[in-house]
Amino acid sequence: MRTQVVIIGSGPSGLLLGCLLSNAGIDNIIIDRVGKDYILGRVRAGVLEEGTVDLLRQAGADERMHLEGLPHDGFSLAFDNRDHRIDLFALTGKRVMVYGQTELTRDLMARREAIGGTTIYEASDVSPQGFDSAAPFVTYRKDGITRRIDCDFIAGCDGYHGVSRKAVPEKSIATFERTYPFGWLGILADVPPVSHELIYANHPRGFALCSMRSQTRSRYYIQCPLDEKVENWSDDRFYDELRLRLPAAHAQALVTGPSFEKSIAPLRSFVAEPMRFGSLFLVGDAAHIVPPTGAKGLNLAASDVHYLFEGLRGHYLDRSQAALDRYSERALRRVWKSVRFSWSMTTLMHRFPDGGEFGQKIQEAELDYLTHSEAAATSLAENYVGLPY
Ligand SMILES: Cc1cc2nc3c(=O)[nH]c(=O)nc-3n(C[C@H](O)[C@H](O)[C@H](O)COP(=O)(O)OP(=O)(O)OC[C@H]3O[C@@H](n4cnc5c(N)ncnc54)[C@H](O)[C@@H]3O)c2cc1C
Repeated sequence: MRTQVVIIGSGPSGLLLGCLLSNAGIDNIIIDRVGKDYILGRVRAGVLEEGTVDLLRQAGADERMHLEGLPHDGFSLAFDNRDHRIDLFALTGKRVMVYGQTELTRDLMARREAIGGTTIYEASDVSPQGFDSAAPFVTYRKDGITRRIDCDFIAGCDGYHGVSRKAVPEKSIATFERTYPFGWLGILADVPPVSHELIYANHPRGFALCSMRSQTRSRYYIQCPLDEKVENWSDDRFYDELRLRLPAAHAQALVTGPSFEKSIAPLRSFVAEPMRFGSLFLVGDAAHIVPPTGAKGLNLAASDVHYLFEGLRGHYLDRSQAALDRYSERALRRVWKSVRFSWSMTTLMHRFPDGGEFGQKIQEAELDYLTHSEAAATSLAENYVGLPY
C-alpha cells in the first residue's frame, strides 16, 4: 500500500490533519491502535481558541459546533470569597468556544467518513520506519497479518504514550519536564453549570474549576494529592469539598446530581525538541503536554496541525520546502509560550505542598495585580484566548 502521508493516531490532531490534507487533495491514511468507540469514550478538553475553531471550519467539521457550542466572552477568577471577571472580549476582541473534545472528535470522524478518508482502527505494533531515509514507511499488524504502508511523510499524532517519539534515537531528541505535586479530581454530571462562564478558584483548601460541556452538563474539578483514590470520593463528598472552595454565592447556587464520570489526572509540563526528524513530524501530545489549567493542550495540538498542514501544502501544491523546513521552529515557539502560560496559571491558582505562607502571599499579590491592572488582565486574556499562529 502507498500514500503520501501516514498519520499515526486518530485523536484530534490526527483527524484534523487528515481532514485538512484530504480537502487539499493530499492523500493520507490514519492508523490507530484502538477503535472508534474507545476514542469517543475519552473525556478530555473542552475550551477551544478561535484559531482552533477556524481550523475546524477549514476542515469542514464546524457545523454542529456552531449550533451546540457555547461561545464565552469571559471567565472568572475566584478568591477571597469573591469573583473577578476577566472580560476576554473587551480586553482582546476575541472569545473562546466551549465544546467538548469528544464531540469535536465525533465531528472530525464524521467529516472523514463523508470525504472517504481511510482510517485503520485497532492496528497493533504500529511502527514508523525509514524516516531518516528517502523511503519512509509504517508497519502494523491487523487481523494477524503484518502490513506496510510506504509514504513520503509520517505525522506522529499518537499522543504522549505513542510510538512516534519513542522511535527517535535518544541522542537526537531533548526533553524538558516538570511534574506537579498534585492532581485534579474531576467529575462529569448532567446538572446545569453553576455559572454560565468558567470559574477558576484559588482557595486555601486547594484549587477548584467549574467548567461545563453544555447548558445541562457540568465538568467540575478539585485539586487533590497525587496519591488520592477516586473510590474515596462519593459524589456528596466531592460536591461538599467543591462548595468549600467557591465564593458563598456560587456554593449556594451549585446544583448537584449523580456523576457519570469521575477520574484523577496528574499534572505535567513536557516538551520534546525538535519536532521533526527527517520525514517524521511530531504533532500535539506526542511532542508536548501541559497541565489543563488554561485549557491549552488540545489548542496546541491544533496549532501544530496548522503549521504542519501549511508545510505539507507548500510541499505538494507549491513545490516549496520553506514552511516544512520551519515546522519545528514555528511550532515550538508557540508551544513554549503556552507551556509558560499553563505553568503560570497552575502556579497562581494551586496550593503547593511546599509553598508556605510566602507562596500564598505571592499568589494574593498577583491576583490583586490582575484585578487592578488592565495591562495584567489583558496579558492573561491574550494568552487565554490563544496567541496568534
Ligand atoms: C484526562 C485529561 C484531561 C484533559 N483536559 C484538557 C482540558 O481541559 N483542556 C485541554 O486543552 N486539554 C486537555 N487535555 C489534553 C488534550 O486532551 C490533549 O492535548 C489532546 O487530546 C491532544 O490530542 P492529540 O491528538 O495530540 O493526542 P491524543 O488525543 O492523545 O490522541 C492520540 C491518538 O493516538 C493513538 N495512539 C497512541 N499510541 C498509538 C500507537 N502506538 N499506535 C497507533 N495509535 C496510537 C491513541 O489511541 C489516540 O487515539 C486533557 C488530557 C487528559 C488526558
